[in-house]
Parts: sequence; C-alpha cells; structure tokens
Amino acid sequence: ESFCSHLPKVELHAHLNGSLSQKVLYELYMSDPNITKSDDIIKLISSFHSGEERTLEDCFKAFDIAHAVTVTPNAVKKVTKDVICEFAADNVMYLEIRTTPRAVPGAMTKTQYIQAVIDTIQEIPTFIGPDKFIVVKLLLSVNRREGLTEAEENIKAAIAAHVAYPEVVVGVDLSGNPSCGNVTDEILPLFTNARVSGLKIALHCAEIPNEDEVEAILKFKADRLGHGTCIHPNYGGTDKLWSLFLQYRTPLEVCLTSNLKCQTVESYEKHHIQKLLPIQYPIVISTDDKAVFSTTLSEEFRVVAETFSLSKMELCNFTQKAIEVSFASSDEKKLLLDKLSDFKRQQG
Ligand code: 5GP
Repeated sequence: ESFCSHLPKVELHAHLNGSLSQKVLYELYMSDPNITKSDDIIKLISSFHSGEERTLEDCFKAFDIAHAVTVTPNAVKKVTKDVICEFAADNVMYLEIRTTPRAVPGAMTKTQYIQAVIDTIQEIPTFIGPDKFIVVKLLLSVNRREGLTEAEENIKAAIAAHVAYPEVVVGVDLSGNPSCGNVTDEILPLFTNARVSGLKIALHCAEIPNEDEVEAILKFKADRLGHGTCIHPNYGGTDKLWSLFLQYRTPLEVCLTSNLKCQTVESYEKHHIQKLLPIQYPIVISTDDKAVFSTTLSEEFRVVAETFSLSKMELCNFTQKAIEVSFASSDEKKLLLDKLSDFKRQQG
C-alpha cells in the first residue's frame, strides 16, 4: 500500500466536479454568500461521497450536487485548488483535469468558468507547498446530454482557450451520460475542428453497449479513449469492435472503482482490464471521479496490483506508459520520466 502511495503517479482521467471532496463542497456551499441555501441541497451534499455502489444513472445525479455549488468563478477556483492539492498529496506528479465549461445565468459565463480553472493552474506555485510537485493541464469537455449547440460552444471555447494558453489547455473530452442521445452524426464530427486546431482528443467510449456508436468512436482514432467497457464480445461488445480496438491500440484510461460502483462491471476480478493486461494493451489507471467513487489514484493502483498480482516494476511501468500517452510536452515528459527513474533508483 505504501509503495502505491509513494510511487510518482500520473492521473489522466479526472473530472473536476467529480473529484472535489465532500468537505470542500460543504464549506463552499455554506460560505458562498452568492449561493441561496436550501435544506434539500444540504441533504444532497451529505449523500455525496457515500462511496456506495449505485447505478450509472445515480452516479450522474451525484454530479448535479457539485454543480449546484460550483456556480461562481470563486467557487470554481476553490474547487480546482482543492482537487490539485489532493492529487499532489497523493504523489500525483502530473494531472490532466477535465471539466465542462458551465454558464450560470447572472453569476458566471463559460469564459469566466474556464478562466477560473486556468488562473488556478497558473497559481499552483503560490499554494502547492515546498515539498510537493505537480504539473497540471486542462481538457475541456463536451457533455453529450447537453446537445449540439452546447457542444459547438464548448469546442469553440476550447479552441480559443488553447490559442490563448497553449501550455495549459491541451485537449478536449467527450463525456456525459452515455445513454443520452447518439453522438455519431453531429457531436463527434465537431471534434475534428478541435483536432485541426492542435488540441488532443480524449473520448469516453463503450461505457454501455452501443455497437454503431462505439464503432464510430473507435474509427475517429482519438488520442485516448476512456473506459472501453463494452468492446470485447464477453462484455456487451462484438468481435468486430474488439478487432478494431486491437488494430488501433488507442491508449485506454481505465477506471476500475468507477466501473464497479456504477455497476458496469461485476467485480474487480471480472473487470475488462483482465483482457488487456495479458496483451500489454496501453492502459492508464485512473480515478474518474475520486470523490463520487470514494477512491484515490494510490487506491486504484493498490486494487489493480492486488487483484491481478502485479509486481512493483509493473506498477512503475503504468506510470511510464501514462507519461508517454499524456498530453504533456516532450520536455515535460522527460522531466516526469526523470522523476520516475529517481524513484526507482531510491527503491533499489
Ligand atoms: P465536470 O465536467 O462538471 O467538471 O464534471 C462532472 C461531469 O463529468 C459530469 O456531469 C459528466 O458529464 C462527466 N462525467 C463524470 N464521470 C463520468 C463518467 O464516468 N462517464 C461519463 N460519460 N461522464 C462522466
């Protein structure tokens, strides 16, 4: 356990509003004079971070709680800072946060939302503490549930933010409840605009069975995919999808506890990672929503090591692979690889 906690780690799949601790959520809610208090929301906050297993639909309700609280630029800044500090405390040396730009009438525009996150990332040296090190990048998300107009807006905003802050805003993400709508015809093609503007592409893929959509997402050849649960024929996928997946070998962000708690896999032992480990498929161990699923990146490493009897070297290799497939610059990747080498040397 302490090895997993000390190992320098890389988190590539973390949604901002699923990662903030219940404590900060509560503090924020109570202290922000711009937020009108209600008993219903206080009750909802207490249920956040329960860590219980729930359906995928219930998980998506949990995000509404965080969204009810992160409604001003100051709240977004506080949440971003808290999430960065928590990952840094868990020895995450490189973090890609993803978040959906959100406008709140009368309180915040999407541009202000994005700026609040970027400002906080740029202020890291002022709050991180002398003994911690973390590099943070931002991916802006499209929530499929919100439809085409919002998707267009978010992609446009992501391109503008990338032009203004190329070192911070490095990619776009497709997420949101996978049972809402079909992204193949209208939303997915928008990501081409992001790609030609130099943004990297991370797409949620195959969280639930949907052969046509999964095929379109695989064929988009994103830089990385998330989850990939229902691709293999034993997991609600098909032979055709599995063979495309093996052909492209797009790096996959794997979120074990998230999948277990959303009940899209039965157990850690039966997680689809068991199909990927033996073929050395490029995977990245990730938390997804560490608060909603009551986990940490160290805990995810511990679970995968224990469930599949992995060696310390294999865990170090996860960090190495994650560095390689991250959206960091080549100088940053070199620095991160050096940090990993230092750690391995200390371990002997
Ligand atoms: P935010 O984008 O507001 O910072 O983080 C919460 C949002 O992330 C949710 O509303 C949802 O769109 C997305 N999200 C978080 N976890 C998951 C997940 O496991 N699957 C999918 N598809 N989307 C998720």
